[in-house]
Amino acid sequence: MTEIELLVDLHKNHERQGPGGRKELEKALDLANLNNSNCLKIADIGCGTGVSSLALAEILNCKITAIDFLSDFINILTSTAKKRGQLEKISPIVCSMDNLSFEKEELDLIWSEGAIYNMGFENGLKYWKQFLKPFGTICVSEITWLTDKRPQEINNYWNEAYPEIGTAGDKLRTIERCGYSPIGYFVLPEECWENHYYKPIERDFDSFLDRHQGNHMAKELVNCEIQEIKLYRKYKEFFSYGFYIAEKVSENPS
Ligand code: SAH
Repeated sequence: MTEIELLVDLHKNHERQGPGGRKELEKALDLANLNNSNCLKIADIGCGTGVSSLALAEILNCKITAIDFLSDFINILTSTAKKRGQLEKISPIVCSMDNLSFEKEELDLIWSEGAIYNMGFENGLKYWKQFLKPFGTICVSEITWLTDKRPQEINNYWNEAYPEIGTAGDKLRTIERCGYSPIGYFVLPEECWENHYYKPIERDFDSFLDRHQGNHMAKELVNCEIQEIKLYRKYKEFFSYGFYIAEKVSENPS
């Protein structure tokens, strides 16, 4: 089994593959204040097994293209959407977030939870913008420092894992530099990490290790997750995901 296959096996049976929550999705939608009298064209980028797409389809008059580069996640979303009678509204597709096939200015809304870091916050914002209609909306969550200063251990850990990590001020400046106008920002609370993400994975470590007995990479993967969870619990007042809501304002940022 490859590392990716192991990662998929550890994460695919859970509702979400990153921190987040239904209440927070609704809060972001409230801030976005979309005009939903017409059917909205939406992309959910880095959708995983589709928790956000499924919720958006329930709430909005919309057509959603749900994008992930892992076919296992897309297959799970396809069967969940089918079971819930939502395949009319959700089209799950296997595709990379840095090579999308939308028309220019096709989308009313780009949604992306816990995923933009894979191509980088600034790169993602710049590349995705062409697909948004003028004044289209982006709702995106991104790992964010909550304080100006922080202990060295957590500073080093995140700077190595994701050098683009910054404070909300940094992120809002990036949003503006990329030609969007910020509408709102809030921080994901602890339950989005603990109850919705870490605890469900933690409960599965033993059965995962049983399934992959003797597999070195599987053990290593669990150790990395344990380390990440430990650091979150120790330093949670210093970082979280920020949820950023912004509107496209200009075509050609300098
Ligand atoms: N939005 C989901 C999943 C977040 S995890 C949730 O909140 O639960 C990040 C997701 O990004 C994973 O499903 C991963 O497969 C996907 N991903 C990573 N790199 C990608 C890429 N280059 N293109 C498309 N999806 C990618």
